[in-house]
Amino acid sequence: MAVYASGLPIGYAFIMELSFDNHLASPYHSNSQIARILTEDWISKYMYCPRCGNVHIQHFENNRPVADFFCPACHNEYELKSKNGTLGSKINDGAYKTMVQRITSNQNPDFLFMSYSREKMQVQDLVFIPKHFFVPAIIEKRKPLPATARRAGWVGCNILFEKIPIQGRIFIISNGIILDKQDVIDKVNNVQSLEIKNINSRGWLLDVLNCVNRLSGYEFSLSDMYLFEAELQVKYPQNSHIKAKIRQQLQILRDKGFIDFLGNGNYRKRM
Ligand SMILES: [Zn+2]
Repeated sequence: MAVYASGLPIGYAFIMELSFDNHLASPYHSNSQIARILTEDWISKYMYCPRCGNVHIQHFENNRPVADFFCPACHNEYELKSKNGTLGSKINDGAYKTMVQRITSNQNPDFLFMSYSREKMQVQDLVFIPKHFFVPAIIEKRKPLPATARRAGWVGCNILFEKIPIQGRIFIISNGIILDKQDVIDKVNNVQSLEIKNINSRGWLLDVLNCVNRLSGYEFSLSDMYLFEAELQVKYPQNSHIKAKIRQQLQILRDKGFIDFLGNGNYRKRM
C-alpha cells in the first residue's frame, strides 16, 4: 500500500495546514533539494484536485518530464513550481524550447505556483493556473548559461505571471489565508469556457481579456477598447484589421459569459 512520508495511507484526507513537515528535510543539505521534498510532501498531503474536488492529488512515482502530480479521480495532471519569498512577477521554469513546444501542442499540464517562507517553513501563496491560460507570449527566454556552467548554452525560461489574465490566476492560498475550496472549484469551472485549443485564437482572446481587465470600473465602450489598437498592432504586425479583431473577441467573451453587450457600443464586465 502506498503511504505518505508520515506513514498514513495515501488517500487519507488531511485538513489543510500551512506548515511544512520539517523533519523530512533532515537527510538533505541543499536548499533546492529541501524545498522540493517539503513542497511536494505538502501538496501530496493537503492539496485537493482544483478541477474535480477529489480530496488529494498524487505524486508521479518517477521524475516525469512534463507533470509532477495527477488526480486519481479525473486524471488531470499538474506541474508544481515553488519559490522562497513572494510570488513576484515571474516564475523560473525549465527549458525555453520545451515549454513553448508543450504550449503550442497543447501538452502542458495545469500549473500550481507556490511561494513559501523559508523562515516560517510554511506556504504563503498557492495559485492554480489552468493550462489553457498559457500562450508563448507569457514565456520569457532567459540568457543561455555561460560557457563555465555545467550545462553551458542551456536556455531556460520565466513564466510572466502578471501577464496571465486575472481570471486565470486562481488563488488557493493567498498571503497565508486558505480560501474556500468550493469557491476555488467554482472559479476553475467558470473559466473553463475560455479554453481554446488553437494557439493563435487563444492568444487573441487572452490579449483582449487582459485589455478589458485593465479598464477601470465595470462598464466600458468600444472606443475605450480601441485605445489598445496601437499596442495590439505591435503584437500582431501582420494583422491589418485590429479593430475588427477586437470586436470579434468581445463577441466571444460575451458568448462565454464574461461580458454583456448593453447596445450602442457599450459593454459591462460580468467578472
Ligand atoms: Zn480531479
